[in-house]
Amino acid sequence: MSKITKVKARQVYDSRGNPTIEAEVFINNNSAKAICPSGASTGTYEAFEKRDKNNKKFLGKSVLGAIALVNSKISKKIKGENIHNQERIDSIMINLDGTKQKTKLGANSILAVSMATKKLSAKIKKLPLYKTFLVKNNFQLPYPLMNIINGGAHANNGLRIQEFMIRPDRAKSFSDAMRICFLVIKSLSKLIKDKGLSTSVGDEGGFAPMISNNNQALDLIVLAIRKSGFVNGKDVSICLDVAANELYKKNKYSIHSKNYESVDKSIQEYIKIIKKYKIKSIEDPFAENDWTSWNKLMKSINKVQIVGDDLYVTNLERLKKGFLNISSNAILIKLNQIGTVSETLEVIKFAQIIGFKTIISHRSGDSEDTFIADLAVGTNSNQIKTGSLARSERVAKYNQLIRIEEELGNKARMNKIH
Ligand code: PGA
Ligand code: ZN
Repeated sequence: MSKITKVKARQVYDSRGNPTIEAEVFINNNSAKAICPSGASTGTYEAFEKRDKNNKKFLGKSVLGAIALVNSKISKKIKGENIHNQERIDSIMINLDGTKQKTKLGANSILAVSMATKKLSAKIKKLPLYKTFLVKNNFQLPYPLMNIINGGAHANNGLRIQEFMIRPDRAKSFSDAMRICFLVIKSLSKLIKDKGLSTSVGDEGGFAPMISNNNQALDLIVLAIRKSGFVNGKDVSICLDVAANELYKKNKYSIHSKNYESVDKSIQEYIKIIKKYKIKSIEDPFAENDWTSWNKLMKSINKVQIVGDDLYVTNLERLKKGFLNISSNAILIKLNQIGTVSETLEVIKFAQIIGFKTIISHRSGDSEDTFIADLAVGTNSNQIKTGSLARSERVAKYNQLIRIEEELGNKARMNKIH
């Protein structure tokens, strides 16, 4: 009884209030559902997100066309397929689409079905989802990269850098990691309030106070870490996502101030803040096509994690190029950048073989779906980036990791940060 009998999609809403796809895969009365997330600072090479641009009723944001494709073409093709054969089901959808960036069916339709398939397979095997990916035993919990101040495209405060994150490097367990982040966030909240600024949050749950200077944000975080009784750069490290695609114009960048500076000047400024604030990780320090500058940065610094997000878009070909070019030493993994679970796993496998750290990530438009929490443990990914301790769509992933840690009991181990 493992043959798919029906696939159904419906339009639901994401955390930004935009329409998105939920797919439900059935074997008779048994089913599993998955919701596709959606980005705001997307890379050019990401798989295509299909929306009804001309449907005025939803301001061009509905996904009814994509849903119709799931309910007709996709459903028809995968009905009767073995639910446990994820690779075959994914490749049927890839071939049915037939384009490089999944522009025909939309990566949102394909991914929702792909994730729901994976969930139903686990349900039927009576296995927790995390046990159905790459790792079969010795599961490791990821370090959280908690985004505590939001800027860039995720807030409207004018902060150049998109995400200011903390990582509890000395946490002994995932629950301990959560406690450390909780304490720093509470200190930060008080510091922001005492300054007379707003503690309202951005799209990923981090505070979005009206400060427009990177260093001001970094000073606040350093102070919050200290006030919580931790040592910056040891107990807790500061990590950044610059999302530099958004700060790039004619070979110049406006990362460190509103003024556009040369790459060399931007690197000098990076080196300064790395030293001053003991920054341990920088994501997308340069734009997605600027391979030379990525390599220059790699040569200019050491012991800093350099993460490719828009650079790689969870795409094997781009990752291979980045590896040969010595562009980074870590990759951000987002399922909807590539569009199927199988292709995502292939990228993770390759990244781990070449010694890159893998960081599983949410999108700024996300949902109550906690698939990525299980994916992080099931692939022994080193870190997970899923927002702050605010907004239930973010907290849901952390809570799922707490449950997984509890279930693993004395077998649970933290991944290694160094
Ligand atoms: P996005 O941002 O989901 O809006 O693309 C997240 C990121 O850049 O890491
Ligand atoms: Zn990013």
